[in-house]
Amino acid sequence: MINQSDNSLKINKSIPDFSNTEIAFKGKTNTELNKAYWLFKAINSQLITKLGASATNFFLRIGAPIVPLIKSTIYAQFCGGETIVGCEKAIDKLAIGGVGTILDYSVEGEQEERSFIETTEEILTVLRKSKNDLRIPLAVFKPTGVGRFDLYVKVNNKETLSVAEHAEYFKVKARFNQICKFAHDLDVPVMIDAEESWIQTAVDDIALDMMRMYNRDKTIVYNTYQLYRTDKLASLKAVVYLAATDEFKLGAKIVRGAYMEKERERAAEMGYESPIHKDKEATDFDYDEAIRFCMEHITQVSIIAGTHNEESCSSLIDLMNTYRIERNDPAVYFAQLLGMSDHLSFNLADSAYNVAKYVPYGPVKAVLPYLFRRAEENTSLAGQTGRELSLIMKEKSRRSKA
Ligand SMILES: Cc1cc2nc3c(=O)[nH]c(=O)nc-3n(C[C@H](O)[C@H](O)[C@H](O)COP(=O)(O)OP(=O)(O)OC[C@H]3O[C@@H](n4cnc5c(N)ncnc54)[C@H](O)[C@@H]3O)c2cc1C
Repeated sequence: MINQSDNSLKINKSIPDFSNTEIAFKGKTNTELNKAYWLFKAINSQLITKLGASATNFFLRIGAPIVPLIKSTIYAQFCGGETIVGCEKAIDKLAIGGVGTILDYSVEGEQEERSFIETTEEILTVLRKSKNDLRIPLAVFKPTGVGRFDLYVKVNNKETLSVAEHAEYFKVKARFNQICKFAHDLDVPVMIDAEESWIQTAVDDIALDMMRMYNRDKTIVYNTYQLYRTDKLASLKAVVYLAATDEFKLGAKIVRGAYMEKERERAAEMGYESPIHKDKEATDFDYDEAIRFCMEHITQVSIIAGTHNEESCSSLIDLMNTYRIERNDPAVYFAQLLGMSDHLSFNLADSAYNVAKYVPYGPVKAVLPYLFRRAEENTSLAGQTGRELSLIMKEKSRRSKA
């Protein structure tokens, strides 16, 4: 990742030290560090997080002026700003540390054709901005940002569509194509996020079409593979072989998966076998094997390792050494979310690996579902908040002694 603010290009070729909090929090003032400390402390309290969503929705409904409070706390930690221009400060801060930005328009839960068109336009604007801006190496979009959830479900289940639904789905696919073609013409890679398993086959089919069309010479389109699913390692491997025989490059964002509780609940309610691995070890095993397999087939695959797991980052570094892959090879990116795991992002970037962070943006009320997910994830994931808190405390103590 090229740091635009520093032309001297000091490249540190040592192995990243993830315990180096000075590098991790270089971009944070003492005040910002303190704010992050109190925020993660609050998130750590399960009660506050659980009450948070319903209390926030209640206060918003009765018109209580809580937007400024959200904006200066949880929103400031996990989001870049309300608009692309509003994200400039966040983009610059990341670039100074050698970390790229992935502008993530995070408005969720829309159901109307009008909003799908607006979201598509917004993603095209992001792609236009990314072109010629080395601070923004990748773009991203969510399938449900450009199409109706229930329609994907019907297509996924191979249900018969009405004429109107056929026409509607034709438009959804046209939007995927509009985004991926534009990304191809501008030469800006774009990722397609993965969501619930019960729409994912429909999304995978479109993503495969896009990769066949636009990944002929290089990787432009990346689909997402959730390795908490029992079937995803096999399907990832199959697509790697397909890419070889059909002569296209596979773009694979490799993640563990964010919808575990929801997936399990639905499977239990509806009486089918959960598509999610039975335990964390099984997910980790498939995640590791997916990364290893991609490294072994690096001429055919480009990956983006979307993870906050330190061990996963370290073992990817080892694999890059084993397969003699350069740190700045565009076929390997590490990616994290804004406001989380800065110890990974900035230390990796400092050692000259390709790193980028999702920078979610959008009006405060519209990104609330994203923020609640972050808060819940930080509460429910074993150790995540503890990890963030202890790193922040370590840096506070280092600064106080410096
Ligand atoms: C840049 C980026 C992009 C992302 N994009 C997507 C996306 O498009 N779609 C998506 O779904 N998620 C996405 N995620 C979220 C991701 O899937 C994980 O939820 C999150 O990163 C936590 O996993 P981890 O590898 O960071 O860490 P870890 O803490 O090592 O792993 C936690 C994850 O392990 C799995 N897990 C935990 N407990 C169990 C259990 N008992 N049984 C089975 N599995 C278990 C779950 O997937 C859980 O999220 C993205 C994350 C990042 C950083």
